[in-house]
Amino acid sequence: MTGRKLKVEAIASGTVIDHIPAGMGIRILNFFELTKQQDRITVGLNLKKSTGGKKDLIKVENTKFTKEQAQQLALFAQDATINVIEDYKVVEKFKVTLPEAIEEVLSCPNTNCITHDEPVSSTFYIKEQQDKVALKCHYCEKSFHQSFFKELV
Ligand SMILES: [Zn+2]
Repeated sequence: MTGRKLKVEAIASGTVIDHIPAGMGIRILNFFELTKQQDRITVGLNLKKSTGGKKDLIKVENTKFTKEQAQQLALFAQDATINVIEDYKVVEKFKVTLPEAIEEVLSCPNTNCITHDEPVSSTFYIKEQQDKVALKCHYCEKSFHQSFFKELV
């Protein structure tokens, strides 16, 4: 160790997701299938926060997160910020926020739920309970903590 700071390379255009809780970076990569795309991705794990503690950071070149994706991101990292980069500059910066509902991307943990047998896309309503998030299935009306979803762990 030289003690020198490792500088993460700047990107010309794309998205920087900052303030991801340490350990969530990999889950986010998997969930959004970011590693399957061709563009360059820089991932920082267990980076030191200026306020103490650790965080993960993801830079994805030539990719812009949709509003929907940004909301889904909040399931993993409620305090994450998204920086949109154009021409090496941050042109937009915002905090992610939990959506009221999340569609299609999650499958219901209830194996008896109709969504597993019928060609319907899933819909879950999101409820925040203290610092936890519960998701209620539109079809079977059962609520689950986010840790019950295979897509989120
Ligand atoms: Zn269900």
